[in-house]
Amino acid sequence: MNYLRLAPVLILAAASALAQAPATPPAGPAKPDAAKPTAVDNSKPTPKPAIHSFDLAAIDKTVDPCTDFYQYACGNWLKNNPVPADQVMWARSFSQVDERNRYLLWEELDAAARNPQSPLQKQYGDFFGACMNTDLVEQKGLKPLEPAFQRIAGLKNAQEVAALASELEGEGSPMPLFDFDVEQDEKDSSKQIATVSQAGLSLPDRDYYLVDNPHLKEIRRQYVEHVTKMLTLAGDSPEQAAKEAAAVMEIETALAKASMTRTDLRDPEKIYHIYAVADFQKLTPGFDYSLYYKAVKVRPFETLNVQTPDFFKTLNELISTEPVDSWKAYFRWHTLHGLARNLPKAFFDENFAFFGKTLAGQKEPTPRWKQCSRMTDQALGEAVGQDWVKLHFPPAAKNSMDQLVAALEKSLGDDIKTLPWMTEATKKEAEIKLGMIRNKIGYPEKWRDYSGLKVERGDLIGNIERSAVFERNWNLDHLGKPVDEKEWEMTPPTVNAYYNPSMNDINFPAGILQPPFFDFTIDPAVNFGGIGVVIGHEMTHGFDDEGSQYDGHGNLRDWQTPEDRKAFTEKTDCVADEYSGFEAAPAKGDTPAQKLNGRLSLGENTADNGGLRLAYMALEDTLAAQGKSIDAKIDGYTEAQRYFLGFAQVWCENQTDEVARQLALTDPHSPARWRVNGTVRNFDQFGKAFGCAKGQPMLPATSCRVW
Ligand SMILES: [Zn+2]
Repeated sequence: MNYLRLAPVLILAAASALAQAPATPPAGPAKPDAAKPTAVDNSKPTPKPAIHSFDLAAIDKTVDPCTDFYQYACGNWLKNNPVPADQVMWARSFSQVDERNRYLLWEELDAAARNPQSPLQKQYGDFFGACMNTDLVEQKGLKPLEPAFQRIAGLKNAQEVAALASELEGEGSPMPLFDFDVEQDEKDSSKQIATVSQAGLSLPDRDYYLVDNPHLKEIRRQYVEHVTKMLTLAGDSPEQAAKEAAAVMEIETALAKASMTRTDLRDPEKIYHIYAVADFQKLTPGFDYSLYYKAVKVRPFETLNVQTPDFFKTLNELISTEPVDSWKAYFRWHTLHGLARNLPKAFFDENFAFFGKTLAGQKEPTPRWKQCSRMTDQALGEAVGQDWVKLHFPPAAKNSMDQLVAALEKSLGDDIKTLPWMTEATKKEAEIKLGMIRNKIGYPEKWRDYSGLKVERGDLIGNIERSAVFERNWNLDHLGKPVDEKEWEMTPPTVNAYYNPSMNDINFPAGILQPPFFDFTIDPAVNFGGIGVVIGHEMTHGFDDEGSQYDGHGNLRDWQTPEDRKAFTEKTDCVADEYSGFEAAPAKGDTPAQKLNGRLSLGENTADNGGLRLAYMALEDTLAAQGKSIDAKIDGYTEAQRYFLGFAQVWCENQTDEVARQLALTDPHSPARWRVNGTVRNFDQFGKAFGCAKGQPMLPATSCRVW
């Protein structure tokens, strides 16, 4: 899946904990306005205004747009909008719209928790209410974790690791070792097959365990200290906890070594290895998967995709070589860690001190009402979303979006036709793929049924576990069934968008279809610079270094002729090298500044460049049809200039140094500055619009172009 932007919620959670468990909440009565101490804080929700599409005051006119366009378009905004204490980044568009959507969501959840008007409202109101009840969380202490702790304490030998992991997974407790789910077959997208992949880490990436620099060494030291503190809080003696933390670090480091890099995971051929069930079992003889399949109640199957075979070989070795006490420590830690944000204040605070403050630079915890709103959206998104879109997504918005998408499709068609380096045969294939892209706008045509999910007002941890089981059952039930192209991977209030290569579809949740992305009260230039570029970005994903390996049916099949593929790779190499030269995070002490990983971010950068060009073409068409000139001025700026300013101002963003360093290693998207400057410098129309001279930073003598 290719997202427009990394969701902020993903930043603070370990990657391994994300794949399955959709929920991670806290607790308290549905009264965020009742001033009383809670496990987090109880800052009062206040209404958030709509954002203006275009902000002349954000512009810093002391900067030359041809030298640093991002600074020109956003400079004053950046100066006046530091990162709020409860955030790790603050973006003019994404964060503010996100805050506004979350407030509107909270209004709905709070009302449902107090006075539900339907069974659905009762269900999500209770989920939210249980999350807000921090008094009860304190009262229960670690009691909800006792069954898992007892199981873990009963582990006797290496042969029982599989049984233990299977039981934990079966009950919705955190099970870190690997991810197992059902996905479309990469080479036959009409089939849904079982897939297993690497997991098992707590830090955000394998590099955190393996890279030898002073900054990451210090993080590792602090991580071991954090694990020790958490286990001490859970009742282990400091000596025992220190021993356990060392064991956790040893196992996780071994798993990190066996893990593929994020860059390699982007290559679909490298993560496609079909195994017979018996052969997969032979790869890891020390782990009896039949116990696991039984625990998760998956229907029998004959083959599966083992994305990362080397990881499973190492896992097998570790199961027999690591002492049984180390495995106990590992599972005990992950049980605590996976639920830390939903435990009493002492655990919450210690978790925040390391994962929030140290790793991401967040000064204060996210207020409880925000956490619980987000968590309820994650667990019951299509239940909450049904009511949310009725209130906040007018049908007229969908019609306008249909027209915009059609305009962008035409641009990409025109672009393919005129591409100088591509042969006719490949152009034909590209046009076929373009014609097959499915558009999904706003929210699902049919909603998911949550009636099987039991929610109890007084049982936060139970709700989280049952939700994890419910999600897993829902996913595993897809095995062997026909693909349902109407399903969504994002909830309606989400401020993001995505392209799914196996579905060959572009998806725009209602949450992003509002100002400053989308606003038909403003001139088309600003709109095309906003949502137009977003649409173009998602479409281009179908044709980036990864997406281009799939055909229109979503099957991994090279439809380019060998010479076109060679030319294409030269073009994408140019983009990868260009972005590898940009700085992603500042130096820290003895650790030098972090350069962008141009290979990890190649797909996103290609999509950004394509999006900017395609939306500009669509704007030209639209203005021509209206008999208007792109050089006509509004508020002192030509339509062309307003297009680029509208685009840049979508990306105005401050972030903490800590999160910048984290994202440099983990985020496939470039930092905001390069999403703007990296793209405009590759597009001559920008230099023309602002009268730049060839050779200036934003109009370099040579530039890169794929689409
Ligand atoms: Zn993207």
